[in-house]
Amino acid sequence: MTRHAELVALSAAQKVLKRKRLQDCTLYSTVEPCPMCSFASREARIGRVVFALSSPVMGGYSKWDVLKDDDLSNKLPEVFGPPPEIVSGLLAAQAEQVWSQWNPLAWRFIKRRGCFGSAADLSERYAAAPRRILSWAALTAFLAAPALAVSKAFLRSRADSKPMTKFDSQPDS
Ligand SMILES: [Zn+2]
Repeated sequence: MTRHAELVALSAAQKVLKRKRLQDCTLYSTVEPCPMCSFASREARIGRVVFALSSPVMGGYSKWDVLKDDDLSNKLPEVFGPPPEIVSGLLAAQAEQVWSQWNPLAWRFIKRRGCFGSAADLSERYAAAPRRILSWAALTAFLAAPALAVSKAFLRSRADSKPMTKFDSQPDS
């Protein structure tokens, strides 16, 4: 029961990327992630969550305020990342079709109970909370810039002070 597809995807991504934080990654799901997967997504600092069908009965966005709750990251920034960007309703009609073809009986039940939102619902977009953009490449470039400038200036001054006649192919006249 705990091996939800989103959790499996998150840990697979962490293994492949060899890091815990996935702030530059998008989690795609046919149905809105449940609260458990939403908490795990916040812990993994996922940058964007995209899903086709909303889950107004059990979802971690439509029903429970897990994906967009600022309090989590404000009070426990060591544990939870800022709210990710949310895109809902992507390919919703196709997702409904897949569900109804896979198990028509279960689909009718789900629809009757209102477990999933309708593809006719307008797609929604919720902007991500502002987050610090800090990439190691940018940080090392920033830190190394003064050192590089100094070493370039040093090399230039050495080049200036030392005539390069030795490497000149033209003979002295
Ligand atoms: Zn889940």
